[in-house]
Amino acid sequence: MQLVLVSGKRRLLANSERDLSMANIYIETFGCQMNEADSQYIARRALGAGYTFVSAAEQADVLVLNTCTVRDNAERRAYGRMNHFKLLKDGDPAVKLVVTGCLAEQDRDRMQKRVPHIDAIFGTGELVRLGDALTAWRPDFVDDEVSEDRGLLVPMGGQADCITDAFSHLRAFVTVQRGCSYYCTFCIVPHVRGRFDHRPAGEILEEVRQKVAAGAREVMLVGQTVNAYKDAVAGIDFGDLCRQVATLPGLEALSFISPHPKDFTEKIVADLAGIPVMNARVHLPLQSASDTLLRRMNRKYSIEQYDAVAELFKRYVPHWSITTDLIVGFPGETEADFEKTLAYVGRGVFWQAFMFVYSPRRGTPAAKWEQVPAHVAGARFARLTEVQNGVIRAFHDTLVGSTVRGLIVGPSKKDPGKLALKTSQNVTLIAPKPDDYAEELYAREPWLDVTIHTAHVWGCSGSIVSRAGSRSQNGKLVLPPTLDLLAL
Ligand code: SF4
Repeated sequence: MQLVLVSGKRRLLANSERDLSMANIYIETFGCQMNEADSQYIARRALGAGYTFVSAAEQADVLVLNTCTVRDNAERRAYGRMNHFKLLKDGDPAVKLVVTGCLAEQDRDRMQKRVPHIDAIFGTGELVRLGDALTAWRPDFVDDEVSEDRGLLVPMGGQADCITDAFSHLRAFVTVQRGCSYYCTFCIVPHVRGRFDHRPAGEILEEVRQKVAAGAREVMLVGQTVNAYKDAVAGIDFGDLCRQVATLPGLEALSFISPHPKDFTEKIVADLAGIPVMNARVHLPLQSASDTLLRRMNRKYSIEQYDAVAELFKRYVPHWSITTDLIVGFPGETEADFEKTLAYVGRGVFWQAFMFVYSPRRGTPAAKWEQVPAHVAGARFARLTEVQNGVIRAFHDTLVGSTVRGLIVGPSKKDPGKLALKTSQNVTLIAPKPDDYAEELYAREPWLDVTIHTAHVWGCSGSIVSRAGSRSQNGKLVLPPTLDLLAL
């Protein structure tokens, strides 16, 4: 028998109603690409142990929640999900709830007391043990019929635009470094993930090889300060690593997240500029353009040094997009500090900015400092958003009328009749599915050329004119959507 959630309660499904009689696992991920990379590892271990992935928590035997604690909101959402999952466990006590990620690392004792229905908590350094536990539990879930391979489905907690089983293998995350030694005063990461730990280059190359053999077209190298990467034994830095990864046969796109501005040397920028498969985007987290605040944040660069790095990129790769993170209302932020950030953003540097109102994190120095009143921070955030939205729209306006190639992400989350793509510059494109659309075909030929009709703040919309089996191939024409033809 199978249980599903109906009006907040699980009910038994008759055998004829269910399509699931395997050991089903559901993985929900909050937070950054590091967590997404960890979820991919968990997914691989689960697949290896014989689990089937499901897209609804209500269908799962094992629920894995990969948590984030970077902001208070992420923490509250994670606890909210744990409470929701209690309903599922109440309906079927055999269901297991596993919590991992940064919140699990930080809050382990408190979490166990606050959410006693959790079956296991694994910190960020205990993923191997988590995988072992999945293997050990697997015989408890009996297979009473053979199911077809349902593929890999790893919902990404609202971070990703859409992740589907047909396309999720096209992008793979490869962790090159764990932890961080920089101790920004607002950040919990070094406290929960520890200091830098760089993987040997040989291991990274091998993992990229495996991911490409498994169908990845784009590999994203992931680390908290990824460009600080060093392999002391091999004597290589981040630029060398990227050059070596880029030579692997079959890799069509290479990207990385999240670098630290202070670790970009001219040599590394020149290395990146010389890599043909490198995506045309660099994420340069600024946080604030006030030197006073940068010092209080312990960011280890001044605005002048930051600007010099941005200029390096503009010199070597002028077509690249520069994206950033910004914090508004950091403790001690005066109107004059904020105006500096506003003015810098107004210069039109950033194609995309992830902007946040400062959120105190327990255990970090800044949480103990006098806070900027919420209404002041909120008003500043609204002003900054308005300016940055204008900048982004202006960048996207420059794309209208052109045809741009992107890699499929999957069906649009808001409209399943449309496809979502990401360009090399990390611009989101949305376009109606062509009439010849078929998941399998488009997963084999996932590079789509989109003629852009309209610019938005979130990205651009247009129509798909051709698709290609590889990034460098000429596109084959596709059948335009019938609705578009009628509209002409
Ligand atoms: S560089 Fe700063 S913000 Fe980034 S992970 Fe390290 S401590 Fe956190």
